[in-house]
Amino acid sequence: MRHVAVVGSGPAGFYTAEALTKAYGDAVGIDILDRLPVPYGLIRFGVAPDHQSIKAVARRYEKVALTPGVRFLGNVHLGADVSIEELLHYYDAVVLATGAPHDRRLGIPGDDLPGVVGSAAFVGWYNGHPDFADLSPPLDQPAAAVIGNGNVALDVARILSKTPAEFAGSDIVAHAFEALAHSAIRDITILGRRGPHQIAMTPKELGELGHLEAAAPSVSPDDFPPAGTDAALEPGQRKSVEHLRAFAAAPPAGDRPKTIHFDFFARPLAIEGDGRAERLIVERTALGPDGQARGTGETYAVPAQLVVSCIGYSSPPIPGVPYDERLGRFPNAHGQIADRLYAVGWARRGPTGTIGTNRPDGYEVAEAIAAAFPPGSAPSGRDGAAGLDRLLASRGCDPVPFADWQRIEAAEVAAARAGFTREKLVRVPDMLRTSGH
Ligand SMILES: Cc1cc2nc3c(=O)[nH]c(=O)nc-3n(C[C@H](O)[C@H](O)[C@H](O)COP(=O)(O)OP(=O)(O)OC[C@H]3O[C@@H](n4cnc5c(N)ncnc54)[C@H](O)[C@@H]3O)c2cc1C
Repeated sequence: MRHVAVVGSGPAGFYTAEALTKAYGDAVGIDILDRLPVPYGLIRFGVAPDHQSIKAVARRYEKVALTPGVRFLGNVHLGADVSIEELLHYYDAVVLATGAPHDRRLGIPGDDLPGVVGSAAFVGWYNGHPDFADLSPPLDQPAAAVIGNGNVALDVARILSKTPAEFAGSDIVAHAFEALAHSAIRDITILGRRGPHQIAMTPKELGELGHLEAAAPSVSPDDFPPAGTDAALEPGQRKSVEHLRAFAAAPPAGDRPKTIHFDFFARPLAIEGDGRAERLIVERTALGPDGQARGTGETYAVPAQLVVSCIGYSSPPIPGVPYDERLGRFPNAHGQIADRLYAVGWARRGPTGTIGTNRPDGYEVAEAIAAAFPPGSAPSGRDGAAGLDRLLASRGCDPVPFADWQRIEAAEVAAARAGFTREKLVRVPDMLRTSGH
């Protein structure tokens, strides 16, 4: 019998566990730990609530969690409830699948003003992450700025633009739904340092902006390179640029009260305001021969009482685990950090790629573990689950098993308002009370 601890129950953790069950059959015990009492990481707390078909991937992870030999233990925080040395003592291998939950800071004057939030916090707020339930972003003023040119920026702009009716079928959390329903925001500016050809936005997500009930996208035709240059783009990128060109060519949408402005070639220099964010000071850029943005010296102001920065994430260090400050993650070679210690997903690669990108990661690390501890080889004599259970009990730490999560989930689905998929239970004590834990 082999014992593996997987820390983090997002996609990377579950793909790793899935691959390990395939490699070892029933000759492995896998404990999937998470600091939160509920599983699935960014599938629950990152992916947009109005993108339910994407969240459906959790069904695949559920099958893994219900496989004999696999346990989910929520409410167990590596670095607080248990140390990496302790996990390595009890398990043959430990896999860090802890993601990249910290927002990268803008690093410009005024980025600490009230009204400036990172996307992990803002997205966590509308998705019911217990750490961000009290965020209360300012929605009572007319203008918001969203900094970044990736899909997270699109998610944020779209959620800020939707009418209550457009959240039908979603699982947006009640406090965000109510606040957004009363939002005064009319202008949302998405800023990117480079141009339409350099965006990291995918066509499906971009196309959605053209079909909003109360908001219309606005793009300046002057921001595009000559149309003939689109042919050199990779097909997905070309499709995204087609959407942007269509937005630029569309007649003004007089009947839609909100506008999503695309502000390309725009580098934020500072956030200003009297005790809170009021405007973003931006420098116009131009592309240099290397394709990078260079400041032109021309500056202007963009009104914004809410500023959401969507410029990337980092993994926080974990005591006892080697850490690369510059990269903001755990240094590793093909997923291996040290003897018997591995990383997968965003903790391994940084915050890039889709859900599916985490699958080969998990499979590669599972293969490396199976190579180091071949199935059928002599057991190491480590205690695995029994050792961890004793340790956690001695510390008064009360893990939430998968069966309790299933009760929480059933309660959420039963509590759903008409037309919503579920009513997320946000507060951890409430979740546990409801689950009868
Ligand atoms: C806002 C947003 C929207 C996205 N939308 C999409 C989309 O629509 N489609 C798509 O394909 N991809 C999307 N992605 C990307 C996708 O979510 C990621 O590729 C994926 O979640 C990364 O998986 P992961 O397992 O590495 O990390 P995560 O999903 O972040 O999981 C990490 C887990 O580790 C736990 N954890 C962290 N630290 C500890 C600790 N010390 N102890 C115990 N547990 C810990 C966390 O609680 C979490 O559950 C989105 C990402 C974001 C940020």
